[in-house]
Amino acid sequence: MKSPRWSKLALICLPLLALGVLGGLSSQANAQDVKMDEAVSSNPEHLSQDELDSDERDFLLPEEGVLERRYRARARNQRSTGQGILGAATQNGIQFSRACDAGKRLTIAAVGDVLLHSPLAKQGLSDREGFSSLWSGVAPLLSQADVTYANLEGPAAGAVASNGKVTRDPGRVFDGVAYSSYPMFNYHPSLIKDLVSSGIDVVSTANNHAIDRRALGADRTIENLKAAGLPHSGTRSSNGQGNWFTTTTSNGFTLAWIACTFSTNGISDTNAQVFKCYEQKAELLSLVKQLSKNTQVDAVIVTPHWGEEYETTPRAQEKVLAHSILDAGATAILGSHPHVLQPMEKYKTQDGREAFIIYSLGNFVSGQKQLPRRTAALVYLGLTRGSDGKVFVNGARFVPTEMTYGAKMNLVPRDSAGESRSFALQILGSGNVMKSTDRVDTTPQCD
Ligand SMILES: [Zn+2]
Repeated sequence: MKSPRWSKLALICLPLLALGVLGGLSSQANAQDVKMDEAVSSNPEHLSQDELDSDERDFLLPEEGVLERRYRARARNQRSTGQGILGAATQNGIQFSRACDAGKRLTIAAVGDVLLHSPLAKQGLSDREGFSSLWSGVAPLLSQADVTYANLEGPAAGAVASNGKVTRDPGRVFDGVAYSSYPMFNYHPSLIKDLVSSGIDVVSTANNHAIDRRALGADRTIENLKAAGLPHSGTRSSNGQGNWFTTTTSNGFTLAWIACTFSTNGISDTNAQVFKCYEQKAELLSLVKQLSKNTQVDAVIVTPHWGEEYETTPRAQEKVLAHSILDAGATAILGSHPHVLQPMEKYKTQDGREAFIIYSLGNFVSGQKQLPRRTAALVYLGLTRGSDGKVFVNGARFVPTEMTYGAKMNLVPRDSAGESRSFALQILGSGNVMKSTDRVDTTPQCD
């Protein structure tokens, strides 16, 4: 949201009585404009293998670098042939036919996985700026939108061990027991407060790490999110209470957010706390239908955690589900999980609306230092309320970002030429790119 500070969080009873549910509603103060400082332009220096903990070595598999080599080879080929390569369908960008229609507007900002491998978790615990030090390079971009979304990839449960039992709280210390990294994450709960103070307004908690601290961890994470006033979707309490969706209200627009995941990494979801995109597809589509028909809801945004890791194009399974969700009434899909970007798409629904998909937002902040994984984008999606009161997509733009691994790790925008920016543009095309210093405007062609 525009203001990095939350004015309040109110729970209201929406007329969703037919559904028998309550939606969380956030309200916000108006913003003060924040100017982007000069983009940090230092080249990333990477963590050496020795600086990584053993658990990080586990994810630096021998095939690391294959994607990067493939990308470089294709980029060389592209330079010599002039042919588009990855994500060619969106090379020229996507435009929406009602972009310039009059009406009240809302801008959503979206980023991908908040994925704290141990070097990042340690920095967040020790740095004066806390976890915000990991993304301070893009903080003004997060707070410029009316509502800002991220995927919280893992519990922020406090002192709960990986067996799901309460353990000793080590305080702000990364002890590998209460707070740990790959393959079973758990973050210090102050991460949530730092996300909120940086302008994050809503998160997904449905992802493959959702129950890395079992049922208790999911419960504690939900409690900590509630205490911090950060709405979430996709997980619910072990006692069965709670919804698979939440709502946010900003600038007069009420959005319903639904998160789901393809998997919980083989950990049994004993209390049915995590919404599953494929196993519960019928329930997902029915929820989208109900919320999109609710006159109190302006738009339904679905944030699936899906797809193949490290692949830069979606597979048929994601495409089919995406189109079904939009045909059921959703306005946009903001995907995550592959750890790399996947293309944006405009989809014309069966009822004639133009809906938006980004199949994967990539990582927000992570310890995955390879070019495709340290590269991502902050996506702005614009909505307009037409004269008939119905809300439609007016446009989408993005700022390429790169996680940098110097003495201090930080996410920075990439406005000028470089391999990270080039990689992002290979996938998302160049037609919708914007500079971090540009005014946030999803329809600059209408000026
Ligand atoms: Zn994931």
